[in-house]
Parts: sequence; C-alpha cells; structure tokens
Amino acid sequence: MEFESILLPGISEQRPLIIAGPCSAETEEQVLETANALANRGIKVFRAGIWKPRTKPGGFEGIGAEGLPWLQRVKKETGMYVATEVATKNHVLEAVKHKIDILWIGARTSANPFAVQEIADALRITAFNGPVLVKNPVNPDLELWIGAIERLYNAGIRKIGVIHRGFSTYDKKLYRNLPQWHIPIELKRRIPNLPLIGDPSHIGGKRELIAPLCQQAMDLNYDGLIIESHCNPDCAWSDKEQQITPDILSYILNLIVVRDTKQTTENLTELRQQIDELDTELLAILAKRMRVSKEIGQYKKEHNMPVLQTVRYDEILENRISQAGKMGMGTSFMKTVLEAIHEESIRQQIEVLNQ
Ligand code: PEP
Ligand code: MN
Repeated sequence: MEFESILLPGISEQRPLIIAGPCSAETEEQVLETANALANRGIKVFRAGIWKPRTKPGGFEGIGAEGLPWLQRVKKETGMYVATEVATKNHVLEAVKHKIDILWIGARTSANPFAVQEIADALRITAFNGPVLVKNPVNPDLELWIGAIERLYNAGIRKIGVIHRGFSTYDKKLYRNLPQWHIPIELKRRIPNLPLIGDPSHIGGKRELIAPLCQQAMDLNYDGLIIESHCNPDCAWSDKEQQITPDILSYILNLIVVRDTKQTTENLTELRQQIDELDTELLAILAKRMRVSKEIGQYKKEHNMPVLQTVRYDEILENRISQAGKMGMGTSFMKTVLEAIHEESIRQQIEVLNQ
C-alpha cells in the first residue's frame, strides 16, 4: 500500500505530531476555552468527540452535530486543524459538511467490518481528502485492524494513520486498556510507512500514566501522540480521570525525550553482528534440544508412556526460572520462553508418537 502524508500544511515534520483536546465537546465555552489554551501552547491539531460511543446508555453520548459549528469556530479563531470521531455514514456526511479536517474511527467501530465499510463508502461519496486515523479495535486482533485500513484504502483514502489506544481487558489493575506493544510493533513491521500515533489517555485511563506512556511511545519511535486535554478535567462529562489541563500537557510534552531517528547506526554494526551470531547459536542449541526431546519421545513411545510428564515440566520451570532470575533476566520472560519451548517439544514428541 502506498500512503500520502497525514501532516497537513504548516505542521512540522518533526516527531511527534501532537493532537490534543477534550474527550468530548461539551459546551461551546468549554471547547473554545480548551482550544485557546492549547493553541497558546503551540498545539496545532485539536481533537473533540462529537458523537461518543458509550458502553451503556444513560451516559453522555456526545453533543452531536450541534457541536460541529463550535469546531468551526476553533479553526477560525485559533488556526488549529480540528479532528473528530466518526462511527456512521451520517457522522461522515455531517463532519465533511462542517469541514472537519481529520477524522478518526474509534476502537469499537474498527472492530466492526460493516461499520468500517459504511464509513469507507461515505468517505468515497463525499471525496473526503483529509487524513483518516484508525484506532486499534478493542480486541487484540491485528488482522481486523489491518482489515479496517484496507477497507479505507480500497475506498481511495490515501492519508491514513493508525492510533494505538490499547486493548480491552477485564483486569484493569494498572491500565484501562492493555498496551500490548507487540501488536502495533508488528503492524509497523508489516506496513512500515503507516504513521503510528499513541493514545496514552485511553491506554492508561489515569492522569499519572500519561507522561510515562508518552515517553514509551516515543522510545518505540511512534510518529505522534493523541492526548485528551480539558480546561477543567475534574468536571469533564466523559473520561475525567484521564484528562489533563493544557498546562500539564505542555509540561509533559516539554519533559519528553525524543530520540533522533536519523542518527547513524554505523557504530552499532559490530554489536549487531554479535547479536546475529548469538541468535544463530541460540537457534542451533534449540534445534539440538528438540532433537534430544524427540529421542525422549521415541523412548516414551516404545515404553508406552504419555508424552506430557507434568512433574518433570514443573521441575524444569521452577529451576530455570530461578536460574534466569539470578542471571538478570525477568522471570515472566523466562516463563514465556520455556512455555513456548515446551509446547514445541510436545508437538514434536506427538509427531514421533504418530509416526
Ligand atoms: C476517544 O478518543 O475519546 C474514544 C472514544 O476513544 P476509543 O475509541 O479509543 O475508546
Ligand atoms: Mn475519551
């Protein structure tokens, strides 16, 4: 897929692209006050949800089309570009009619192919030419995320970007939505030229997580950040725990360290060579381990023993995990590695059994 830049005229090429604004447009005063404060702190793209997908009825479901002229005022009075979420054909028609510059597809919507197709068709009909950003679907399904991108692409949209907002989880101990960083990283590997924007607000769900999540996104070379900011977060009508004032936003943005991607990697050549060699050794050792494991499989077959010996497996796990800890490696990392090795070992022994 060939994409066009999502950076609109006047927006710096320098990372990160910042999109900021309230979760929801609530009143004309709240929108204008927040927008002015953000514009004064150098923000160039203003976000505000006009239609809000709420988990349960009864919450604030967005001000609706009535709020679109407020965003037009923001454009006119601050010079910022404006962005909002669309979830239906009608949203697209209304947003385009009111000259919204950037549209995004929310996480609940990108999980639904019918809805994404409807939006893609509406974008084609209106010949919308601004950037369209696709949030990851609520469920950790990379193919579904890519599917949504493809639906837009097939509708002729070329200014596409993605927003990583984390994945739904029943366990909300730390994050509101689990980051599962490997999923956007794999997306970037599969479609390298697709701009990737981090959404620390919806991943973290709390103000104190915004700064570390911004930094992590920058360290992973994300192209931009979309951050919820409200002139009076404690009184926000939606997502108040995660919204920060424009002042705090600007403080956080000043603290973030953005590392230079254009730095030459020449000095790393030698170290990378070492990594290549070590990986080759690692693979050779793993292959050797599998061969031994197959011999064990042969023995088990001849002596009519079951493939899975849980006592032995428990011993291995416990012993290696504590060893790994002493060698400076994370225990949960070691557990994952051992589980993967064991799974492959079992697969190979079952193969022997069936021969
Ligand atoms: C939002 O950006 O306010 C929003 C509703 O996000 P998400 O689709 O990620 O839940
Ligand atoms: Mn929100």
